[in-house]
Amino acid sequence: MKKIFFISIPLILLVVTCSKDDSISPVEDIITIDSLKINRKVLVVGIDGFRSDAMQENITPFIHNLSQTSNSYYTDKHIVESITYSGPNWSSILTGVHMDKHNVTDNSFDNSNYNEYPSFFHYIEKANSDINTASIVNWTPINAYTLSTDPDFSPTNSINDFEVFEHVKNILLNSSDIEADVLFLQFDELDGTGHTYGFSPEVEEYTNYANILDSYSEELFNILKNRRANGEDWMFFIVSDHGGEGTAHGDSSDPNINQTIFLAQHPELIFKANCCYTSSQADIAPTILNFLGISSSEFESNTDGSSVLE
Ligand SMILES: [Zn+2]
Repeated sequence: MKKIFFISIPLILLVVTCSKDDSISPVEDIITIDSLKINRKVLVVGIDGFRSDAMQENITPFIHNLSQTSNSYYTDKHIVESITYSGPNWSSILTGVHMDKHNVTDNSFDNSNYNEYPSFFHYIEKANSDINTASIVNWTPINAYTLSTDPDFSPTNSINDFEVFEHVKNILLNSSDIEADVLFLQFDELDGTGHTYGFSPEVEEYTNYANILDSYSEELFNILKNRRANGEDWMFFIVSDHGGEGTAHGDSSDPNINQTIFLAQHPELIFKANCCYTSSQADIAPTILNFLGISSSEFESNTDGSSVLE
């Protein structure tokens, strides 16, 4: 296991010259690291195709309970991109910028501009490459295109949701070869269930599968709770890319499609109040970097989002 020790200087300033666009504009990315926060840890549970009104106590009791009784930011009005496919939305979640910048407007990922707007993993690794980062996904274009080699571990072999769950569980239990301080996962089969049977709290196949993902999320959260009890400082996220209506999610004017769920939970930190702030896909990356005490001048001038932490 890699351990990161810092001497007791509250802020360590690193200056990294951005090389990738040197031929165009030699912009220096100034990265600062808060040594009191850089050892923090993150788990992001990504659920494809979660329609907001399916988040109910009798369907997803764990998520409901966490949103009601725990110290968290939760909204079922999380704003998705104006093109409500998966490609644009996972891209915005991971890069912290909207479609007009990352340029992913469908699931082909043609014309993507990740070179200029890389994922939050890029900035974490740039701040401290000793941080272990991983992304385990069912929908492999996320790792193949959006993340590529940004995380230490981002396999592109095809696996199902249960295998995603098992792999992440083993990583968190330290019973895998892979270690992760910052871990993203994506479950895809709720979306598939919606496309086959309908995205609706009235559709039994859809709600049954949402309930299964709720129990996977609960089991992973309980492992985090144990690790928190052992002194680690974890933040927990659940986010989706879009909702659905009927068996599709293409109509971006439909609130059952253009809104979804977003939850961020930490035992002590103060979140923005969901009465007064509605999150968007661009907010996840800045929240993660903020939590980890990583500040990048390049990211901050690019991002369209803001941290949901106060
Ligand atoms: Zn999707």
